[in-house]
Amino acid sequence: MLQFLGRGSAFSELHNSAFFLRGSSLILLDCPTSAFQALKQAPFLAACSDIRIFVTHTHADHIGGIPLLIHYAFYILHTPVVVTAPSEEVAEDLRLYLSRIEGCDPAGYRIETAADGALPFSAHAVPVTHAPRLDGRCFGWCLTVDGQEIVYTGDTVSLDPFLPYLHEGVILYTEACSWESDVHMHIDTLLPVLQQLRQNGVSVYLMHLDNEAKITEAISGTDIALAPLYETEGETAMSDSKAQETLDSIFSITHDLYKRMCSDQESTHDTLFTDLTALGKILTGADRASFWKWDKRRHELWTLSAIGTERIVIPETTGLVGKALREQQVVVTNDPYSDPDFNQDVDKKTGYVTRSVLVMPVADVNGEFIGAYQMINKPGGFDAAEDCRRLSPAALICGLALESETFLEDSQHDRLTQLKNRMGFYADYLHRYGKMLAAGRNVSMFLCDIDHFKRVNDTYGHNAGDDALAFIADILQKSCRPGDNAYRWGGEEFIMLMPDTTLEEAAALAEAIRVRVMDATCLADGNEIRMTLSFGCCAMDSSISVEGNVSRADQLLYVAKQTGRNKVEWKPDALEQKP
Ligand code: GH3
Ligand code: MG
Ligand code: MG
Repeated sequence: MLQFLGRGSAFSELHNSAFFLRGSSLILLDCPTSAFQALKQAPFLAACSDIRIFVTHTHADHIGGIPLLIHYAFYILHTPVVVTAPSEEVAEDLRLYLSRIEGCDPAGYRIETAADGALPFSAHAVPVTHAPRLDGRCFGWCLTVDGQEIVYTGDTVSLDPFLPYLHEGVILYTEACSWESDVHMHIDTLLPVLQQLRQNGVSVYLMHLDNEAKITEAISGTDIALAPLYETEGETAMSDSKAQETLDSIFSITHDLYKRMCSDQESTHDTLFTDLTALGKILTGADRASFWKWDKRRHELWTLSAIGTERIVIPETTGLVGKALREQQVVVTNDPYSDPDFNQDVDKKTGYVTRSVLVMPVADVNGEFIGAYQMINKPGGFDAAEDCRRLSPAALICGLALESETFLEDSQHDRLTQLKNRMGFYADYLHRYGKMLAAGRNVSMFLCDIDHFKRVNDTYGHNAGDDALAFIADILQKSCRPGDNAYRWGGEEFIMLMPDTTLEEAAALAEAIRVRVMDATCLADGNEIRMTLSFGCCAMDSSISVEGNVSRADQLLYVAKQTGRNKVEWKPDALEQKP
């Protein structure tokens, strides 16, 4: 809701001061000299017809910019300034202060207090304790802007005076310091209070930071955020140091990605998507970012990576991501609550307030949409053309990575049964089960084959045969324990791999599946079909190849077939009795 011209403390380059715009009015909270410098650069200032400043106290570092702004507004902008004091005493100080400064023409400003009449935005000041010299003259502000309640604490040693105002849905902007002192709140003591407030549905943003790195570290892993900085990027040129900082972040991410791709460590696309999402966040200057995969098989959208939010799965038609994919175009809203497609559930659950959203759909090389970037909350709002241009390098790589991942996944799955296929089996063996075996862990397997399956096809037709295969596959899939995997080995043969399972345990599992199949009736293409399975089951031997192990299971399966079918052969000596 508020945008910050800085979030540092007393002598930092950008001391904390926040603003919001309503129509052509600019409303500021505190006005240090750095706020005046930043505002002078802001393109919206010239269009403002009036300026109001809510003052918290009269420390020089908070009010140094007021006379400068009055001076500038009067002579250059021809815009009146209203200085709102939190108490009559502070108003008195400001009257004296401003009246003695040359350039502050009395015609250019007015000082008011709540006592002069009701303040706009239902504003009221909350007295706090700060430096002893400011006793009784230091305040925070509570405001309501477009129905949104805001609490801005200013400088204080305690949140206690604000607690009556901090209920669900309120946005709190408060100070946090890493240096122990009697006049500011230390992050370590503050953090538990803030976390409790978060649980109660209060959004929390920190300002007046004496050491941003330390405070960022302290709040990492929480959903407490730093106060959002107003970015002039896109409107005026970025400062050299800011541009360098952004480039450095981009290069660190891409270099990390490159190193990981060249390393022989096992990795998945997950890290790639996480890095690329972080990259997208930096490229657009958003507060949150996520990358969504369109799972067309399951008709779902799910976040492959999310920076700042939990992983989410939603039906493909829902939310702004669903809208962008459905309409096959970029969706931008800087007023999401008035968009019927915007899903407010996450905000309601977490207390986060979404103010702007950009969704950029991502296509494969054939131009078919397969996923989407979602960026949330950019200070000043998103600009479709400019932000998509910035996002394009990350979107391009993500599109290619997602396409190759989808392709790989498809190539390792069997469409008919939805089980993994032989390629999937070898990939899993290489990445997981083979490593377990090499580490000395038990891995068992069975190969099973539907008995007299040819008769099913011959009697009921090929479509019924297909349904019957999917039916058996479903039973196998549902019989998998965590870590187990079932594969379609080919035709009507299936393999199951079972980690940390002895031969006896594997044989018992196979036996249970055999009985389940024998007792089940499959409805296939309108026919009721009964089937049985024969099994060859063995403990995998790490000293022989994977093919050698499959061959042993196959020989046992052969014995089962030769000795009556609908049975599990697993005792190694069965091979010797082979007829
Ligand atoms: P046994 O008990 O000895 O295994 O006899 P069987 O009839 O099951 O074995 P056989 O190898 O003679 O026949 C397997 C049949 O499985 C033949 C083939 O047409 C059928 N089959 C393989 N894949 C599919 C498929 O994807 N769909 C259908 N409908 N049938 C398939
Ligand atoms: Mg068969
Ligand atoms: Mg067969």
